[in-house]
Amino acid sequence: MSERSVIPIVANPAALDGDGTGCHAGAEQMQAAARAAGKAGMLDQYANDYPKGPHDQPQSMCPAFGSLRVGLRMRRTATILSGSACCVYGLTFTSHFYGARRSVGYVPFNSETLVTGKLFEDIRDAVHGQADPARYDAIVIINLCVPTASGVPLQILPKEINGVRVIGIDVPGFGVPTHAEAKDVLSAAMLKYARGEIAAGPVAAPRSGISDRPTVTLLGEMFPADPMIIGGMLDLLGLAAGPVVPTREWRELYAALDCAAVAAIHPFYTASLREFDAAGRPAVGSAPVGHDGTEAWLQAIGDACNVGQRMIDNAKNRFLPAIRSALATAPIKGRITLSGYEGSELLVARLLVESGADLRYVGSACPQTPASDTDRAWLQARGVQVQYRASLEQDIAAVNEFKPDVAIGTTPVVQAAKELSLPALYFTNLISARPLMGAAGAGSLATVINAAIANKPRMDAMKSFFGDAGSGDRAGVWEGVPVARPEFREHNRRRLEKAAKKRKAEEMI
Ligand code: SF4
Repeated sequence: MSERSVIPIVANPAALDGDGTGCHAGAEQMQAAARAAGKAGMLDQYANDYPKGPHDQPQSMCPAFGSLRVGLRMRRTATILSGSACCVYGLTFTSHFYGARRSVGYVPFNSETLVTGKLFEDIRDAVHGQADPARYDAIVIINLCVPTASGVPLQILPKEINGVRVIGIDVPGFGVPTHAEAKDVLSAAMLKYARGEIAAGPVAAPRSGISDRPTVTLLGEMFPADPMIIGGMLDLLGLAAGPVVPTREWRELYAALDCAAVAAIHPFYTASLREFDAAGRPAVGSAPVGHDGTEAWLQAIGDACNVGQRMIDNAKNRFLPAIRSALATAPIKGRITLSGYEGSELLVARLLVESGADLRYVGSACPQTPASDTDRAWLQARGVQVQYRASLEQDIAAVNEFKPDVAIGTTPVVQAAKELSLPALYFTNLISARPLMGAAGAGSLATVINAAIANKPRMDAMKSFFGDAGSGDRAGVWEGVPVARPEFREHNRRRLEKAAKKRKAEEMI
């Protein structure tokens, strides 16, 4: 069969059944369709790598955004989406909102091209059309929910066209719980590909050159100053900071795999860690945050890279007093709840506790993994409730329970806290946009958090000025005084109950 001949595929029209083809269509139905269409192996692997519960469906943005972002941030890489137009619209919008400076490729489909298998041919044509080695090292093609549920077989795309690597991945919302883990899906697929290239023969050196010292690869997207701060610490151990994974360039993947050890700064990169393990590289969890975190991390990295104890102690003596002094000069005084979906929540939590904050709860949308065990144990030993796979309901319940002086969280958590007239800060925009490591990290959170805590009287003044105007049923812009219509509500309630009963009866048939 020639590379461009028509490949008959058995598409699964069940992917289009139900009340629609989006996140709301029902994860079980989409799962069943995908399994029937030959994706069971992939879904089982995801279920293993990204255990779920208490919630199965994404409660934040579409998970595929994580993979898309990783692709869009890489030089000489084209990223193409295959999915429903509404999903692609949302993902494209979000990627440009977050400053992507690349085009997002899209292969559209309709029910006919999906069920006849023509969509796969369209994808293959698009990949061939883009495979220009003068412009690209790699093309990433991402199956969203419906093409995954329908069994569009990206795995039979050519692995390489004109020297351009082709990476096809399925990133359905019903298989990958968060956008953080979707970063892992693409990073691992790229590491696996690069590992195969290394095994096959010599590969290109990174543009920045090769370090003459053993390197430590850093796993997880960080504030740009953090890898430099970590590099300064590794220097005293006779080591150097290797690339950050997800990488910004294909060639960095080779250097990342060629490390002495990998530092799982973010703990959710399960599939990527499997690739490092296959390459024989040991992994170290946690990060050099705060005094205790830095001490433990220097020791663990030194041990993993066979650094002598004297050198490790030297590094500790050099960095720990500066961190202790930075923590003491920038104390945080107040009760805090913390929640987020980036995977760095436990690290931030450690820093808050060491800064003197009365931290009661930390919720992460990411799952519990061995890479975060040290951080979890350290926090729990200090009475902090650690909730993995935290749902929005749990995060909000923590705010209600602990009535913090400041709630740090995702957009809906911040909104809920502000409704209670509690100061609140967005994790992504205000906490992730600061250094966390070493002495720089030790002092960086206090300014923004203490300023927020000091805002409480303003929140109270606003609350007493507005009262309960504009809340609940009366939210929105009204031309007159809103009139309650309990009979409409009753009618609607009955209608919903009837629909639920009907659905239940149909399920039992
Ligand atoms: S691709 Fe994303 S937005 Fe589209 S249905 Fe799946 S989870 Fe929802």
